[in-house]
Amino acid sequence: MALLHNRVSQKELKQRLMQETEPRTTLSFYRYVPIGDPRTFRDELYQGLNKLAVFGRIYVAAEGINAQISVPTPAFSALQSWLDAVPGLEGLRLNIAVDDDGKSFWVLKIKVREKIVADGIDDPAFNMARKGQYVDAAAFNRLTEDPGTVVVDMRNHYEYEVGHFENAIEVPSDTFREQLPLSVNLLKDKKDSPIIMYCTGGIRCEKASAWLLHQGFTNVYHLEGGIIHYANTVKEKGLENKFRGKNFVFDDRMGERISGEIIAHCHQCGRPADTHTNCRNDGCHLLFIQCADCAARYEGCCSADCRDTLHLPEDERRERRQAAARAAGETASEDGEGLPHVFNKSRSRLRLPDRHAEKD
Ligand SMILES: [Zn+2]
Ligand SMILES: [Zn+2]
Repeated sequence: MALLHNRVSQKELKQRLMQETEPRTTLSFYRYVPIGDPRTFRDELYQGLNKLAVFGRIYVAAEGINAQISVPTPAFSALQSWLDAVPGLEGLRLNIAVDDDGKSFWVLKIKVREKIVADGIDDPAFNMARKGQYVDAAAFNRLTEDPGTVVVDMRNHYEYEVGHFENAIEVPSDTFREQLPLSVNLLKDKKDSPIIMYCTGGIRCEKASAWLLHQGFTNVYHLEGGIIHYANTVKEKGLENKFRGKNFVFDDRMGERISGEIIAHCHQCGRPADTHTNCRNDGCHLLFIQCADCAARYEGCCSADCRDTLHLPEDERRERRQAAARAAGETASEDGEGLPHVFNKSRSRLRLPDRHAEKD
């Protein structure tokens, strides 16, 4: 039987990637599509993509597929035709990452999961067969001309804070599973109003739109391809851009500016700023917004306390890091995605001294 996963060490795989001379294209795609036997589907996918030297991370579930991968650029069209030939994956929209060196993945991992997006829903009558209608950028702009249209942001607080669509409602929670019931409650008087949901790439809001329909809402839309696709489309077609601020992306760039405005504020001094940073104190690593002046003043830390920690002797710092890691382990998120600690205005204005001991 063919080998369906790799047996080479991570370190060696990473070295091989760094030595590759062929350029790679990084892309993502997802689709909600019923998959009868996710395990077999997974194995077939692995064999096909492995032949094309695809790397990346893919989740397969009975409800569909979610993939972030890279492919040697010359094999891009071969990949496209291969995917097109898989029943259920015809005509996928492949989102190509711009400004990416293609070195983000060095191994192919395909995992079978219960859901492609953890939703906390345990209603057996719910499925993804009935979803909201897709809207593209032009339709989004047209629909939002009507003041009766409700626009709902299904991302996390820290993403909403630095950029969102004009008049968009925030669903204030940092987990999708909490956002679903919260959004139903928030919109309960708008069961027949046009509602457009959006998120970064479309995968969350597509599920949220299906959930609202399941809850008796009648007029639900979702933005096709999310903010990323919207931003590209308005640029390409010269349409009006209704997104304000920055689109937060979880990588080294920490956000891509879509409009010229800065809509957020420095968490330390309150002046306009929208640059996210991770506290330089390894034992903290809080994700927060910091202006250039405060970055200099606090040496990239979230507090005077963390700054002082930077200057402690190494063994003392190690001790603090370990204590923080132990505390973080106790509060690790359920889906294990390893998000760093995130600043959230709805909890506290700045990190409490004993924040790591708190349950979040
Ligand atoms: Zn500041
Ligand atoms: Zn800190």
